[in-house]
Amino acid sequence: MCGIFGIHGHADAAALSHLGLYSLQHRGQESAGIVSIGVDGNARASRRMGLIGEGLADFGGMAGDVAIGHTRYSTAGSSTIENAQPVLARFKDGHIALAHNGNLINATELRRELEDAGSIFTSTMDSEVLVHRIARSASTAPEDKLADALQNVEGAYSLVVTIGDTLLAARDPRGWRPLVMGRLGDSYVFASESCALDITGATAVREVEKGEIVAVDREGMRSSFPLPRRESRKCVFEYVYFARPDSRVFGGSVDRARRELGRRLAREWPAPAADLVFSVPDSSNSAALGFAEESALPFELALIRNHYVGRTFIQPTQAGRDAKVKVKYNAVREVLDGRSVVMVDDSIVRGTTTRGLVAMVRAAGAREVHMRVSSPPITGPCYYGIDTPNREELIAANFSVDEIAGMLGVDSLGYLSLDGMLGAVPGGPSGFCDACFSGDYPTPPPADPQKLRFGCGC
Ligand code: AMP
Repeated sequence: MCGIFGIHGHADAAALSHLGLYSLQHRGQESAGIVSIGVDGNARASRRMGLIGEGLADFGGMAGDVAIGHTRYSTAGSSTIENAQPVLARFKDGHIALAHNGNLINATELRRELEDAGSIFTSTMDSEVLVHRIARSASTAPEDKLADALQNVEGAYSLVVTIGDTLLAARDPRGWRPLVMGRLGDSYVFASESCALDITGATAVREVEKGEIVAVDREGMRSSFPLPRRESRKCVFEYVYFARPDSRVFGGSVDRARRELGRRLAREWPAPAADLVFSVPDSSNSAALGFAEESALPFELALIRNHYVGRTFIQPTQAGRDAKVKVKYNAVREVLDGRSVVMVDDSIVRGTTTRGLVAMVRAAGAREVHMRVSSPPITGPCYYGIDTPNREELIAANFSVDEIAGMLGVDSLGYLSLDGMLGAVPGGPSGFCDACFSGDYPTPPPADPQKLRFGCGC
C-alpha cells in the first residue's frame, strides 16, 4: 500500500506535499519522496528510505508551484532507494513524474513487451512500466498520453502524475484505491485520504471517480473518462484497516464504518459475561468502541502502543515483524488482572501479532480472553496492493476458526461475517472488492503471483 499526494498552483507546493505526506505515513513507511516542478519547468526529486520526518528534502532547492509526493511500503526484496517514488524521468517532451498506489497485475507482461522493444528499467517497480508507456504515447495532450499508457493495464492504480507542468490524477476503472480531490484557495490538491487535505488546510471537493483522469494546468481543470467501464471494486480493507479513522475515503467516513463493524460484530458474537472490551491500538480503536457501545460493556485501554514503532505488519521480513510485536505493545496489568476480557482487532493475517498479544494479556493476569475480529477470515492473497501474496502465510487459509482459536490461545474467537462487513461499510453491500475474504477475484489471478513480488508500486 502507499499514500499519494499532488498539488497544482501553489507557491509552496513542495512544502505542502511534505505536510500532506505526514498524514499518509500510515500507508507506507519504507520510503518517501517528493518531486517538485519549478516555474522554469525543471523537475527536482527528493527521495529517501524511512519516514517523512527523518529528513526528507531540502525544500530550498524545490521551489515550484506543482508537486507530487509518495509514501511507500513494498513487497519483499524490493525495499531499496531505487524503488522509492515518485518516479522521475526525462523524455522527448520534458519530464514525467509519477506516484502510484496499487498493484498492476499484468506488469510482468507489459514490462517484458517494453524490454523486448529495447526499454531499460532503473527499478523493479511495476509503476515504472507506466512511465515508459506515457513516454511512448503519440498523443499531444498530457491526459491523452496518460490515457494511452493506461490502455490494457490491468489491476489497481490511483495515480498522481506530472507531465511538464500539468498535474494528472487518475483511478483505475474499478476504483480499487481511494483518491480524493480538494481545493486550497485557487490550487487543486489530490490525496489518497482526506486527512492529508485537512493537514494542508484544503477542503475536500469530491472523489476522483473510477476510470477518471483529471488534468490540472494553468488553464484550469479538465475531466475525462477514457478507460473501459468496469464494475466498481473499492477495496473494503481500506475501511476495515488501512485508512485513518479521521479520513473519508470512497465518499464515506472511516470512523463511522469501523464503529458499525464493531456493533455488528457484537451482535453476531456477543460476550455478555465479559468485564470489559479493549482494542489492539490504533487500527481497531473505533471497532472496539462500537463493540463496547453495542454490548454496554466498558471500553478500557488494556494495551498501550509505543508510537515510535511503526505498523508491525509493514515490515518486509517475518523476523522484523516478530521482534516488533513486543517492542510495539505492552499490557496494563491494573486493567487486566483477574478480568474476563474482549480483545477486538480489525483483522488476523498471519496470526503473529495476535498470538503475541494474547500471551501478553494472559501474563498480565487476564482470566478469560475472548477475541473478536471486525472482518471475516482472510483466506486469500490480495493482488491489488495489500502485502499478503502468499496463501501459505495466511492463518485462515490453512486452519479452521476452532484451530485458530487453539493456536492463538483464546477462550473464544468470533469473526464478523462477510454480509456483516459489507452491510456495515458506507455505500455497501455491493461495489466492493472482498476477494481476500470471499475468493471472489474481480480479475483472473496473475499467472505467477510470486512475480508481483518483484517489486510492486505498493
Ligand atoms: P498478523 O499478526 O499477521 O495476524 O497481523 C494482524 C495485525 O496486522 C492486525 O493487528 C492488523 O491491524 C494488522 N494488519 C492487518 N492487515 C494488514 C496489512 N495488510 N498491512 C499491515 N497491517 C495489517
